[in-house]
Amino acid sequence: MSQVTAGIPALPQPVKVQEIRHSKLFINNEWQRSCSGRTFPTFNPATGGKICDVEEADKEDVDRAVQAAKAAVQRGSVWRRMDASRRGGMLHKLADLMERDRLLLATLETLDTGKPFLQSFFVDLDGSIKTLRYYAGWADKIHGKSLPVDESFMCLTKHEPVGVCGAIIPWNFPLLMFTWKIAPALSCGNTVVIKPAEQTPLTALHVGSLIKEAGFPPGVVNIVPGFGPTAGAAITNHMDVDKVAFTGSMEVGQLINEAAAKSNLKRVTLELGGKNPSIVFADCNLQLAVEETQKGAFYNQGQCCTAASRVFVEESIYEEFVRCSIQNAKKTVIGDPLDPQTTQGPQIDRLHFDKIMDLIESGKKEGAKLECGGAAVGEKSLFIQPTIFSGVKDHMRIAKEEIFGPVQCIFSFKSQQEAIKRANSSQYGLVSAVFTTSMDRALSVSAALETGTVWVNCYNALHAQMPFGGYKMSGIGRELGEYALAEYSEVKAVTIKLSETI
Ligand code: NAD
Repeated sequence: MSQVTAGIPALPQPVKVQEIRHSKLFINNEWQRSCSGRTFPTFNPATGGKICDVEEADKEDVDRAVQAAKAAVQRGSVWRRMDASRRGGMLHKLADLMERDRLLLATLETLDTGKPFLQSFFVDLDGSIKTLRYYAGWADKIHGKSLPVDESFMCLTKHEPVGVCGAIIPWNFPLLMFTWKIAPALSCGNTVVIKPAEQTPLTALHVGSLIKEAGFPPGVVNIVPGFGPTAGAAITNHMDVDKVAFTGSMEVGQLINEAAAKSNLKRVTLELGGKNPSIVFADCNLQLAVEETQKGAFYNQGQCCTAASRVFVEESIYEEFVRCSIQNAKKTVIGDPLDPQTTQGPQIDRLHFDKIMDLIESGKKEGAKLECGGAAVGEKSLFIQPTIFSGVKDHMRIAKEEIFGPVQCIFSFKSQQEAIKRANSSQYGLVSAVFTTSMDRALSVSAALETGTVWVNCYNALHAQMPFGGYKMSGIGRELGEYALAEYSEVKAVTIKLSETI
């Protein structure tokens, strides 16, 4: 893949994309036009230029996709009867094909999202491929139990697929979220109707072609690009969709939960936002804490549900921490995301850019100290300077609202008890981090933090084996790891009365 010069592997390079091959709906393993004939444009946020038009799915298209998925998962279907190890084999084959097309997929991801190419190549593609392989391994290891009751009965449990799983995903990690949704669903024998975000449909559609090539039967995965209130709502309200898995904003998560309950009480998993606290103690490795918390704050242009958006630093090292953070922020290379040297690209679109700038302005007005950044780069672009606020107080908007941009807010604290209390005083509870060299403190603080993930002396350390999900209003259920299998399975209890006992 990459050439080696004098022992140093050359960096992977983006490919030249002459034309976008896949821009139609992917239903029943076929490329289909939308019933309405409508399309919508997808843009390159780095240039503002249109990449291509994509077919726009609406209610009727979603219904076609759901009927295909329903037929594919019904009892007696090829997919349903298949030996589970073959399902695993197909997931492995899909991972192989993504490896084969890795440069193209990373390029498409960067064109559509604006994220730096090397990040797409190394992080998003790596995480996606590993997730597929992890769940490929599970496919033939998902099974029930026999349970000990009195001997006149034989009691068994069977793990069955839930059925048709709807998935609605965001624009910040389009490919990664695609695989986080389809891999456990397929491993458990379900079928999927998935809607990529309207800003970023391209990698999902390319993977559609790989799904067909990998040999998945028609209808097992269906991809319906379109808008939230139309295509998204059609999935959530559909009476033949048995489960919906969503990643995105808390507000839409609430709408989805409501619609799921009011339609057919479909199962719901939600991965929503966060206002994630990091607690940096004076006994930490300072340089490590500076680098990791800032990686947490600025990674993916700050557009992460896991963003390290509230950094609480112990008073005695506060000033030094702020000074080192400013120095570290200066290392950011803003520019063309296709250039492998670039570490920060543009925000996803104008609407989102304006929302971030509004929050930066509120921070200035409410009295936080702007240490660096705080402005756009260039006149009409969607690039924002890496921004650091110190002296942030808990009542400020930037301390409470999800910014989803390259903005780091640094607070100071006096005692461990105070830090934990303030860290937990959020409606969200997605992730948190602790920086300390005391293992005792790391364990007691991580026990006290009300978040689904706690990172100790690291940040954004995600693994396919580890469950991911939120406490409180950050979501419902868990993705990844063995835990996600339960979200995609129904457990059937079979009780057999024995006619004879010996
Ligand atoms: P969003 O929640 O509006 O969109 C996420 C997905 O939901 C998209 O596919 C969208 O089409 C779909 N959707 C929107 N309305 C829907 C509806 N009524 N029914 C069904 N599906 C619907 O997020 P966004 O507009 O892309 O971003 C807004 C904010 O959400 C961001 O500023 C950020 O705070 C947050 N966000 C969080 C995550 C995350 O990973 N938790 C990801 C993206 C955005």
